[in-house]
Amino acid sequence: MNTYGWAARDSSGILSPFHFERRANDDNDITIKILFCGICHSDLHFAKNEAGMTSYPFVPGHEIVGEVTKVGHNVTKFKIGDKAGVGCMVGSCGSCENCKQDLEVYCPEMIWTLKTFGGYSENIVIDEHFAVLIPNSLPLHGAAPLLCAGITVYSPMMYYGLCKPGQHLGVVGLGGLGHVAVKFAKALGMKVTVISTSPSKKNEAVERLGVDSFLVSHDQEQLQAAMGTMDGIIDTVSGPHSILPLINLLKTNGKLVAVGVPTEAPEIPYIPLIMGRKLIGGSAAGGMKETQEMVDFAAKHNIIADIEVIPMDYVNTAMERLAKGDVKYRFVIDVANTLNSSF
Ligand code: NAP
Ligand code: ZN
Repeated sequence: MNTYGWAARDSSGILSPFHFERRANDDNDITIKILFCGICHSDLHFAKNEAGMTSYPFVPGHEIVGEVTKVGHNVTKFKIGDKAGVGCMVGSCGSCENCKQDLEVYCPEMIWTLKTFGGYSENIVIDEHFAVLIPNSLPLHGAAPLLCAGITVYSPMMYYGLCKPGQHLGVVGLGGLGHVAVKFAKALGMKVTVISTSPSKKNEAVERLGVDSFLVSHDQEQLQAAMGTMDGIIDTVSGPHSILPLINLLKTNGKLVAVGVPTEAPEIPYIPLIMGRKLIGGSAAGGMKETQEMVDFAAKHNIIADIEVIPMDYVNTAMERLAKGDVKYRFVIDVANTLNSSF
């Protein structure tokens, strides 16, 4: 099938219109007409080949929502007209230990959406297993970021047991991932502290997102006063940073979970971990079953991302602004109305 989107051609990361082929819709596949696609910081890391893993031309986009326009013979989850979402992965082996436990994202043969042509495009053809049903009550533009930002913070909160009412959760970096983590944690009845490099985000974080406290990460006094108070921390930071101050914020037995992929890996300070029986873990997105559970949880609690909707031809400016942290808190491309085939 002939289709089109916007692609980066080299590590400048600059995107421009691009025509390409999608596979035909097979028996287990659905075709989704893409309506909205979020811009995750991973799209930017990949467009600029910051991890050295990008193949060009690269069509970003893994926070995809749209309408099902075709269903294969074996498809049971979707019918034409349903709203569907696609996130970080489009395939896995289906038979390994991870796949059998609904942890497809940890399958050695898992296929990242970023390694295929992603969602800054007209449509996508995907095995129905790797799509989730978007409940009708969720506005689609605000739901798009749930497909990556949402599951990437929800999954570790559940797995590491950082989801209980009354627990104190630190969220480092109030960006796309971070602000959704705040919303989930508040819906779960947790106490939430944001640890941020941006003092300018404080008022809104407290007044609109309802965070209980806001620490500026370069203010030693504030950090000192909060030492030993947190049950867990979700670190969403995309740039170089030190994790020692974060470990110090944890209570005994506290857990620091890395989900951000900083451009330089932080040093791991063993002694403070040992002296507080603390743990550092990581987490990648989440399995498909859990992604559906997360979307349903979001629908139940009316949680969507705070977004700035943009036209397709604004994407390069949006990427520049994202690199500077100048977005509250997620860009979402209005694909259906602004992606133009006449180029
Ligand atoms: P984002 O919207 O750009 O948010 C990142 C936030 O981190 C920024 O808003 C900023 O918050 C803070 N920050 C950025 N650079 C910093 C630096 N040098 N030092 C300290 N703080 C800094 O990005 P995102 O889309 O949420 O993604 C965050 C990271 O998660 C990216 O690295 C992305 O690739 C990664 N990611 C991982 C997974 C996974 O599966 N584990 C999935 C999706 C994304 P403040 O202004 O509040 O400091
Ligand atoms: Zn992402």
